[in-house]
Amino acid sequence: MDCVFCKIASGEIPSTRVYEDELCVAFKDLEPQAPVHILIIPREHIASAAEITPANSSIVAHIFEVAAKLAKENGLAKGWRIVSNVGEDGGQSVKHLHFHLLGGRSMAWPPG
Ligand code: 5GP
Ligand code: ZN
Repeated sequence: MDCVFCKIASGEIPSTRVYEDELCVAFKDLEPQAPVHILIIPREHIASAAEITPANSSIVAHIFEVAAKLAKENGLAKGWRIVSNVGEDGGQSVKHLHFHLLGGRSMAWPPG
């Protein structure tokens, strides 16, 4: 499958990894939108949050545990944001489930 995040998970495409385990990989976004901008992805190819089912939903809880740990490690005590863009209207450009962990600046709401 021609999926850039599967290739990042396997190491075929290089990335700046900040965390990995048997279930997920976290790495720095190529075009950071905040002082801290980390992407957390499952190793398993899941196209988006729209494909979450009872069979695979435990990865989401695991990724949120990893996000909380990474936020602490990156000094984001003042707050942070976790976002998963879904589909065309959601602004998803890479069709492999990923969570943006953003922090280090104040965030606007609602997002654009
Ligand atoms: P989306 O727009 O799908 O929510 O987010 C995709 C994110 O992946 C974007 O923020 C983009 O900068 C990042 N990205 C796309 N290709 C690569 C890559 O090859 N390496 C890294 N580190 N980030 C990437
Ligand atoms: Zn993939």
